[in-house]
Amino acid sequence: MNLITINCFLYAFIVLSIGSYAAAFTARWPIKNIYLWEKEAHLLLSLPFSKSPPDKIGKKRSHCFQCNHPLAWQDLIPLLSYLMLKGSCRYCKTAISYRYPAIELLHLACCLPLLWIFSGDIYQLTLHTLLVSALITAAAIDLEHQLIPDECSTIALACALLINLPTNMLETSVLGMTIGYGLIYILRWIYLTFRGQEGIGLGDAKVIAAIGAWLGLSGLTPLLLCASLSGILYTVLMNRNGSKYMAFGPFLIFSAMLVFYF
Ligand SMILES: [Zn+2]
Repeated sequence: MNLITINCFLYAFIVLSIGSYAAAFTARWPIKNIYLWEKEAHLLLSLPFSKSPPDKIGKKRSHCFQCNHPLAWQDLIPLLSYLMLKGSCRYCKTAISYRYPAIELLHLACCLPLLWIFSGDIYQLTLHTLLVSALITAAAIDLEHQLIPDECSTIALACALLINLPTNMLETSVLGMTIGYGLIYILRWIYLTFRGQEGIGLGDAKVIAAIGAWLGLSGLTPLLLCASLSGILYTVLMNRNGSKYMAFGPFLIFSAMLVFYF
């Protein structure tokens, strides 16, 4: 086995492990936040609240959500464990959520080309991998809950600025971030003023700020064009005209990957 193949396998394993953590985050972040919102609502209404807090992400040993059985190392190998266990828990045989293999595979598909693009540049490779992972995590949570965690947009934004810091792209990066956020903020304000409801969430504005900082000012036009067109196409194809809410984050993130790679 030559060095390139070893590097490729090692990077794929690291990316799958990050994907595995991201998948666990997409399952646990909503549980933690629903608990906090319920607690806050009870406090506001001066009602008793006795629900015990959920485990902190990464603090308790990984366990089955159904039977609570702690998972052994052989149950935690990204992708392989899911395939070997045929998608069900080793102990209680309950089906494991498809989010784990889906998010891990998405990480692999979106990150593997980075190894060729940034071959030999560990700084850019690491930051791009973390940025892409944060965006995939945001898209998954937005798709499921119509919410984008600040944790994801903050990591993506920090990585985007650090990516462009040592290059001559820093100015366009800052402009991309500011104009991207400002544009969505103004559109949101106009819609809110004239229609009395939110047309687009601030979570989307934060994600656009991060993507704007990554792709620069020139990336904003193809990004918004591609995200809007794919959103419209999805609405028409899935016949979602009657639905009130639709997550825009996944279209933004899908478009950002297209603009970056093509
Ligand atoms: Zn189980």
